[in-house]
Amino acid sequence: MDKEPFYTPGLRFSCTRCSSCCRKESGFVFLSENDLSRLATELHMDYTGFIETWCHWVPFDRGRERLSLREKANYDCIFWKDGCTVYHARPVQCRSFPFWYSVICSQEAWDAAARGCPGINTGELHSREEIADWLRQLEEELIIERELPRFA
Ligand code: SF4
Repeated sequence: MDKEPFYTPGLRFSCTRCSSCCRKESGFVFLSENDLSRLATELHMDYTGFIETWCHWVPFDRGRERLSLREKANYDCIFWKDGCTVYHARPVQCRSFPFWYSVICSQEAWDAAARGCPGINTGELHSREEIADWLRQLEEELIIERELPRFA
């Protein structure tokens, strides 16, 4: 029989808006179709203009690349300025943190994430069902991909 996940009693997390997951370290914020739609609407842009202005394509796997938000030269997210400037339209990757598989896969991974995030293990209690919903949503919201352009 499968062991119950360590988060069966739920996990505490409330974002303190410290922005440590938005800044200072290089990383990718990948976008799904829903993310693109929400962000483009928020900024009154069409998809092409939004992608050209705020995104870049990141080589991913087997000749494909994924759409990610750009970052600044200091590695801050392109939308960070004294906090997230698109907070209510932020991508699912940001909204679902810390309920990512890589963070809730074990107690050790959760504890490691807690060392870099003051919101983990404080505040609101999130049930096992809620955590499972985030995992499902992350799996279902497919990241936008395209084939790598070929050069002659
Ligand atoms: S979109 Fe907002 S919440 Fe997400 S990494 Fe950028 S600044 Fe942070």
